[in-house]
Amino acid sequence: MTAVDRNNTQTCHAVGCDVVVPYGRLLCLRHWRMLPASLHSKVNRAYRRWLGDKLDHDRIEVLRAVQKEAIAAVARAEGLPAEVVG
Ligand SMILES: [Zn+2]
Repeated sequence: MTAVDRNNTQTCHAVGCDVVVPYGRLLCLRHWRMLPASLHSKVNRAYRRWLGDKLDHDRIEVLRAVQKEAIAAVARAEGLPAEVVG
């Protein structure tokens, strides 16, 4: 689902979405646009912070939590059931 291939791309992390995006991009454009601006900046901030030190455990945890929040927000926006959102 989110495997990185040889072309340095991966698929969108939204539930059930197979759109190919560049590696490092969490969501495809359609799903990214479903998020409020506040979540955009939250995701970008956490991602940039993680890039500063990819081995920092705290930064990894923060990034994962924010990404999970974004994926859940997209699922809710699409009306998916709560058990899918996790
Ligand atoms: Zn998508």
